[in-house]
Amino acid sequence: MHRAASRSGLRKLQSGFLRRFQSTLVVAEHNNDKLTPVTLSAITAAAKLGGDVSCLVAGAQCAKVVEQISKVAGVKNVLVAQHDAYKGALPEELTPLILATQQQFKFTHICAGASAFGKNLLPRVAAKLDVAPISDIIEIKAPDTFVRTIYAGNALSTVKCNEPVKVFTVRGTSFEAAAAEGGSAVSQEVAASPPVGKSEWVEQNLTKNDRPELTSATVVVSGGRGLKSGENFKLLYDLADKMNAAVGASRAAVDAGYVPNDMQVGQTGKIVAPELYIAVGISGAIQHLAGMKDSKTIVAINKDPEAPIFQVADYGLVADLFKAVPEMTEALSK
Ligand code: FAD
Repeated sequence: MHRAASRSGLRKLQSGFLRRFQSTLVVAEHNNDKLTPVTLSAITAAAKLGGDVSCLVAGAQCAKVVEQISKVAGVKNVLVAQHDAYKGALPEELTPLILATQQQFKFTHICAGASAFGKNLLPRVAAKLDVAPISDIIEIKAPDTFVRTIYAGNALSTVKCNEPVKVFTVRGTSFEAAAAEGGSAVSQEVAASPPVGKSEWVEQNLTKNDRPELTSATVVVSGGRGLKSGENFKLLYDLADKMNAAVGASRAAVDAGYVPNDMQVGQTGKIVAPELYIAVGISGAIQHLAGMKDSKTIVAINKDPEAPIFQVADYGLVADLFKAVPEMTEALSK
């Protein structure tokens, strides 16, 4: 009894000791003006590891972002590297910088949000460090133990990572955003690495969108093949505008060319977990559910009462969407 108690005491001591010596680098994603919400979730995940949290802001004229991230609760240091080569956040240019930063500070963990930015960058960093990366984690059990989903979100896998540096991306919907205020981090310049010049960022053409961003919206209205055409998505835009909602889509709707692929929700699209998700004319294939089943309340509108979406829906409406959606929009206009 006594021995067991002291063993568990020792384990606690070791885990406290381990946590104290963690130091995590969060690679900030931003557009030189604003930090992305997923970076705030990555900071929360990093803070859960228990040690110091540093953030790397690499960009061109990114002073605003440095100011913003310095105030985020839980951030101790902000490392800043400015160079024109960091425009567009090309992994080829950012990787040498992260490696040099790692060489200098010897972080135990390096992470970023599991967005296109993080998913492009961190596998490259991990390969150069000769460690195996862990993608899209949804929970941290211990500094070396992470949980992620597999089989299109239908199973959980707990991974123990013995690599000397743990490199991982963080699913934004699984970690609350760190508070934007309350921190007072110290910022410090780090030397920009010489440009690699293998690839060049030319320009980006962003879709202009007055609606909230899909992955951070509180309400999402998504349409599927049942909409039958791109023009019919107007029904969803009208409904979304009444609810300050983002509009998403199933892969079938994207593949049919109704809407652009940045609207796709699911295993191979975006992962969303809004307060309210309204699935319209979507059957509920597992690959679609993988991207939205953590939504707080799910509403499904489908004319087929047997559609699998009804199994995950909190509220189901068996109806023709071409009748039901305009009626909802009209009701919200009153
Ligand atoms: P359907 O399955 O064709 O469903 C259309 C629904 O609309 C039906 O239930 C029908 O009853 C209903 N409907 C039709 N007309 C009306 C009407 N007038 N009123 C009301 N309801 C109506 N899918 C994703 O969505 N996201 C992904 O990320 C994704 N990744 C994939 C990855 C892989 C590797 C694979 C193999 C597949 C992936 N898919 C993904 C595809 C997925 O398997 C389904 O094919 C897709 O989700 C189906 O889209 P849907 O529900 O719009 O179409």
